[in-house]
Amino acid sequence: MTSSTDTADFRASTRAWLEANCPAEMRQPMTHEDDSVWGGCNAELSAAQKQWLDTMGSCGWTVPTWPKEYGGGGLSHAEAKVLAQEMAALGCRPPLVSFGIWMLGPALLKFGTEAQKLEHLPKIARGEIRWCQGYSEPNAGSDLASLASRAEDRGDHFIVNGQKIWTSYGDKADWIFCLVRTDTAKKHTGISFVLFDMTTPGVSTKPIQLISGKSPFCETFFDNVRVEKSNLVGSLNGGWDVAKYLLTHEREMIGAMGEAALPQSLQQIATAAAGLDEHGRLADPQLRAQIAEFDMDEAAFHATLERFGELAKARQAHPAMSSMLKYYGAELNKRRWELIMSAAGSDALEWASERSGQGGLTRTWLRTKGNSIEGGTSEVQLNVIAKRILELPGA
Ligand SMILES: Cc1cc2nc3c(=O)[nH]c(=O)nc-3n(C[C@H](O)[C@H](O)[C@H](O)COP(=O)(O)OP(=O)(O)OC[C@H]3O[C@@H](n4cnc5c(N)ncnc54)[C@H](O)[C@@H]3O)c2cc1C
Repeated sequence: MTSSTDTADFRASTRAWLEANCPAEMRQPMTHEDDSVWGGCNAELSAAQKQWLDTMGSCGWTVPTWPKEYGGGGLSHAEAKVLAQEMAALGCRPPLVSFGIWMLGPALLKFGTEAQKLEHLPKIARGEIRWCQGYSEPNAGSDLASLASRAEDRGDHFIVNGQKIWTSYGDKADWIFCLVRTDTAKKHTGISFVLFDMTTPGVSTKPIQLISGKSPFCETFFDNVRVEKSNLVGSLNGGWDVAKYLLTHEREMIGAMGEAALPQSLQQIATAAAGLDEHGRLADPQLRAQIAEFDMDEAAFHATLERFGELAKARQAHPAMSSMLKYYGAELNKRRWELIMSAAGSDALEWASERSGQGGLTRTWLRTKGNSIEGGTSEVQLNVIAKRILELPGA
């Protein structure tokens, strides 16, 4: 337990440390997707991005609550919250964002062997290896346990064949965490969770173009890919438990987008486009009412996130909590971007120009459509909430 005096001391020393160590460029608002540092062997970083990543990575503050022996900062949840607050107050950018931090890391901490933790977690913490997620397949999305990519047991290794789809950044990732079928006679209990290097012979990716004009997605193909048994996480045919646990972290991460900070507030964007009336209020009353309603819902969501965080710390969290957060946060983020598009007026529709940053707003608005699909669709989250929280009869 951290006392309030300890927290105050920690806050003061953290603020001083951040002021001394965070490069000025890393304290500017993020305006472009390249401002996010995903790490990995092929990352192209500016000098300031690299300096910030190395500085934070070396003291474990890219993953503040992970244990020190696995590259983390060893902070308590209270201290990590102080660090996040101080970073926000000084405008410090996150030094690193990654599927390794959000998804694989927590799953390895719970299910990994000591050797797997020591091998993979420090590289995630320092941003040395970038991971992608091989869950979905052409015939296994919402019904994920229908997946068919096959891993045949060959003694000390598996041979994997099959196809994944919608693999975000599959063409940029160094390694993949992947669900494979190891028993064809069973559904949920015939799945295993494996890790492998994307440069292993037989792995190939093919980008898929999106509505936003970008292509972060891939089809990923496995053709006789050799995977060592030491890269099996959890037990053979026990991968569904690992997969579900990882999904709760993915859903919480996507849900948290519901309170994502923007370089400019909705109010500022709307004021720039619609101007102010004689009372100093946003001139468009309809937009003003919509923004006020959104702000209240966002504040309520923030309070709910705080409450869920406290429940989780007290180990009283409901197992379906991540579905609630995912559902509401994803829908809220979509609403935020609908409002931004209304607020920014016709300027927001510019697609390809220097002035609009090559359609930055429009492309982000289109990208948010995926929030209610990725990590399990909103309909699927509602099914979980209906069944597990409201205890309604299942279909
Ligand atoms: C931006 C984005 C990033 C993604 N990144 C990855 C990734 O990195 N790795 C990965 O493996 N996958 C990824 N995915 C894939 C994602 O997990 C799937 O798209 C998702 O699980 C839905 O599966 P599906 O696309 O096959 O749709 P389907 O399951 O075919 O669903 C189609 C429609 O039917 C509805 N539906 C299906 N079942 C039910 C039901 N039981 N009750 C009510 N409605 C239902 C769905 O809600 C949806 O509207 C990503 C998707 C997006 C959009």
